[in-house]
Amino acid sequence: MKKILYPFFFFAILFLGCTNTNYSKKVEWAIAIHGGAGNINPDDYTKDQLSAYNQALGSALEIGKKVLSQGGTSLDAVEQVIRSMEDCPLFNAGKGAVFNHDGKNEMDASIMDGNGLRAGAVANVGDIKNPISAARLVMDKSQHVLMVGKGASKFARSQGAEIVDSSYFFTQKSWDALQKALEKENSKDKKMGTVGCVALDKQGNLAAGTSTGGMTNKRYGRVGDSPIIGAGTYANNNTCAVSATGHGEYFIRYSVAHDISALIEYKGLSLADASNLVVNGKLKKAGGQGGIIAVDKYGNISLTMNTSGMFRAFANSNGEEGVAIFNNNK
Ligand code: ASP
Repeated sequence: MKKILYPFFFFAILFLGCTNTNYSKKVEWAIAIHGGAGNINPDDYTKDQLSAYNQALGSALEIGKKVLSQGGTSLDAVEQVIRSMEDCPLFNAGKGAVFNHDGKNEMDASIMDGNGLRAGAVANVGDIKNPISAARLVMDKSQHVLMVGKGASKFARSQGAEIVDSSYFFTQKSWDALQKALEKENSKDKKMGTVGCVALDKQGNLAAGTSTGGMTNKRYGRVGDSPIIGAGTYANNNTCAVSATGHGEYFIRYSVAHDISALIEYKGLSLADASNLVVNGKLKKAGGQGGIIAVDKYGNISLTMNTSGMFRAFANSNGEEGVAIFNNNK
């Protein structure tokens, strides 16, 4: 991580614990990222592990900041940030994807352009190195929104996406997590680490993306919320961009990402109130654990969770930025 993020760290813990930013001053661009949410506490990690997560979040954030500050698009920022997180074995996406019940990696990803409500997604793919780029190819180069399994891989390959042997996705950490989950079939000890990014660019366009290996020990063929537009990912230039992480079945049933946007669009709620109502109200009441990151058309950022932690970071053109893991409000 770039050194400049460190001074922000302790400030960020407090600031991000409050979860929402509210800018009166005009923000030219803004970005938020997540690396998964869950009921974690500081004792679950060594100092070195926490520092590795902070560094990985910081480096991913730097990639997005660079794109946006140079006038690049929110879509490029989202894709590039998520690619970098997919390449990092710490997160449950791409390289670090978890294993399903059969010991296979089945990954899901989606991306959405708030300008024109364009979207692309892939689900249940096992050989695409960067599923987020395959999702973007579906959006940009096909007539479709969601492609799955072998068909999605065939399409991605035909468009030049990098295809790898399934062994590329092996990490001891994910394998051990599966063995533990198989021993304790109903264990709630699910690996988190889904990744996501939302961004507002200088042109006023919003974008959101999410990528995941899903949940450890999930049944073969299970698809979570991450590739479902309106559940795990949503972006609309009139409202906000949202990327979710948590127990996918709940996020699908409660249409979480779209619900936040709809509360802004139809009820005039602020981003903070809409996020809070959905994540800490509806979802929590239903037993759906997780969180969201979101940015609205003004550049306000929401990092809202109903768990004790969410790996997260944010930055904007006013020079405000931070990285945090645990939830101060818990
Ligand atoms: N939402 C993801 C899924 O259900 C998992 C996660 O975010 O941890 O597939």
